[in-house]
Amino acid sequence: MLRGCFITGTDTDVGKTIVTAGLLAACRAAGADAIAVKPVQTGCLFSECGMTAPDILQYIKLAPGAQAFALETFETACSPSLAARLAGVEAPTVQGLLVKLEKSVPPVMSHGQGVVLVEGAGGLFAPLNRWETMLDLMCGLRDRHTLPVLLVAPNRVGCINHILLSLEALEARALRPLGIILSRTGEIDPAVADDNRAVAAEQARRFNVPLLAELPYLPAVTAVGDNGLAAARAELINCLLPPAKLLLAGCSAPYSRSEQNIRAADNGRCVGRREVGLPPEEVLAIDRAHLWHPYTSALQPLPVYEAVGAHGCRIRLRDGRELVDGMSSWWCAIHGYGQPALVAALQEQAARMSHVMFGGLTHEPAVRLTKLLIPLLPPGLNRLFMADSGSVAVEVAIKMALQYWRLAGRPEKTRLLALRGGYHGDTTGAMSVCDPVTGMHTLFSGVLWQQYFVERPTCRFDEPFDPACMAAAEKLFAQKGEEIAAVILEPILQGAGGMWLYHPEYLRRMRALCDTYGVLLIFDEIATGFGRTGTLFAAERAGVSPDILCLGKALTGGMLSLAVTAASEGVATGLSRRLEAPDLPDTGGAFMHGPTFMGNPLACAAACASLEFLLGSPWQTRVQGIEMQLRRELEPCRAFAGVSDVRALGAVGVVEMCNPVDVAALQDFFVARGVWIRPFGRLIYLMPPYVIDKQDLSRLTSAVADAAWTLSQAEGFQGRGSPAYDREKG
Ligand code: PMP
Repeated sequence: MLRGCFITGTDTDVGKTIVTAGLLAACRAAGADAIAVKPVQTGCLFSECGMTAPDILQYIKLAPGAQAFALETFETACSPSLAARLAGVEAPTVQGLLVKLEKSVPPVMSHGQGVVLVEGAGGLFAPLNRWETMLDLMCGLRDRHTLPVLLVAPNRVGCINHILLSLEALEARALRPLGIILSRTGEIDPAVADDNRAVAAEQARRFNVPLLAELPYLPAVTAVGDNGLAAARAELINCLLPPAKLLLAGCSAPYSRSEQNIRAADNGRCVGRREVGLPPEEVLAIDRAHLWHPYTSALQPLPVYEAVGAHGCRIRLRDGRELVDGMSSWWCAIHGYGQPALVAALQEQAARMSHVMFGGLTHEPAVRLTKLLIPLLPPGLNRLFMADSGSVAVEVAIKMALQYWRLAGRPEKTRLLALRGGYHGDTTGAMSVCDPVTGMHTLFSGVLWQQYFVERPTCRFDEPFDPACMAAAEKLFAQKGEEIAAVILEPILQGAGGMWLYHPEYLRRMRALCDTYGVLLIFDEIATGFGRTGTLFAAERAGVSPDILCLGKALTGGMLSLAVTAASEGVATGLSRRLEAPDLPDTGGAFMHGPTFMGNPLACAAACASLEFLLGSPWQTRVQGIEMQLRRELEPCRAFAGVSDVRALGAVGVVEMCNPVDVAALQDFFVARGVWIRPFGRLIYLMPPYVIDKQDLSRLTSAVADAAWTLSQAEGFQGRGSPAYDREKG
């Protein structure tokens, strides 16, 4: 953990380097160890005598004897991204710079003994590479070292505008500035300077950011030679001693504006400075004592790791470890984490309107999502119900089917037909259609609504279709078709019930059976939707449209929970009929469902951004590439004694073991290898973000292969026998 701060500016040439050098000198004057680090230094001079980095020279000039270094150096004085391109090398990345920084900082500093001053390049949005800016580096340093930001602004015409823009941008990323330091980069009319200072201080107060110091114009500092330098240095130290002392005291940033408001409402009891976030031990202790995690015991929970950040295909843990994500957070984060277009869409929508009730009101994000989504759906689905989670979308689908038949004068149609090995969610209606034996809800089997089940499709996706696999369904339709309201299934890929891939012909035949017997067909594409299996929806493989379709998970790219139940015009019309039966109340054609967060604008805005990003990206090529690599790199596992099957489709790769695995032990095993993979039952599987690169995917597949090999060798990894280890959804 480092102590210190990240020094950024409202623009380039605003005096960051002088402030950094001055703080370095002030810390040393206060008797403390301090070093200055320039993560990226452009405008360097490379000659036979070596390399000269301008800012490092300035540090040494103002704080003689101090330690200062640059992590990456480039010749052209421009943005790091362009400088790297001009030099013909890879642009620096946040991850690479963090690793280099941690390696370069002397051990005493790493333990928070001295002060580390990290000076950015340019302003907040200076591009580091094609995707990341200085702000991303600041986020990385905050997440890993809780390093606060110090904002340097010039006292000159236009500075208020730049200060406020910078404060807004910092606040939007939850980066809390320790304070602002005004600097003078030239002569200025004293009246203008006074007004700037007063306005800057007042405006910054709105963000709860203090004005810490103002430096006078010190031409001797930048002039060639030593004329007047000693006096200028003394002046600089004098001005910067108070902020230097703040840093030495290990002070972190004050509350952000929103936190400040909360505290104010809390009678101001806690107003003041504090460490950013709870201490890690407290996080884990409170979590263990009070929080349920999915599918775990409250009293003997499986171990958890604290995640503090997630960017691209990496999840960052509190202890600094970065894990390559192999799960897309259970099918959701298809574009990785922190995708700027999605983050911006959420921020923008949050600032405009985060939620309004959908009863009696509508809004552009929900309507835009509808406009985007309908043309993409399997043909014929044009009525949308926006719920808040996958399970609720399934409840809605079931209720639609029941209401449809009730209003069609067929009240005997009350049963659902589902597939063994299926999984549809955790609410009671959804539970009733999950596999009653291997599903996660066996405990409630006597209580749940009794549905009909047929064996899971035995015909594998990649083998010739065997019509015999329809026999059970045909028989059941013939016997019970009159009672069946709808069939519900996950097309092509059964997810949490076993990661099972089956033949598209099964869906075509099921559609035909439903049509013959007058049964509605519900596809649950909550897991498979949005490209996961290689087509936008798995149903496309069969060229079949259901009557009702459930979507969720990747709909918002993993930003927020949102689900959609889409119905055909026929279903919508049928369930909206006015009832003429005297013994039943007339609903007026209404569908009696309406969750509080229905059509939540924030979630809809995220979904629009996610869909636009997906459609604008070469996602098919990416998913195909992932499938090929998964097949190539996982296939060798088939030879291991403990492995019973290997399969892959789209961005899903599965290694099925002969025995259930110990989730906790295997999770540790994976974290030690720098990957995030969460197996369940006998399945070790991968479903990475589509934007993963080849190297990261290889890290995942080799970790899976290592695990499968180790499990095949050592009995020690076999299941612990607790149901929690065997049962978990994916
Ligand atoms: N259906 C399927 C196919 C799923 O995979 C899931 C979640 N794993 C659900 C429904 C339930 O979704 P949620 O967890 O959002 O309620």
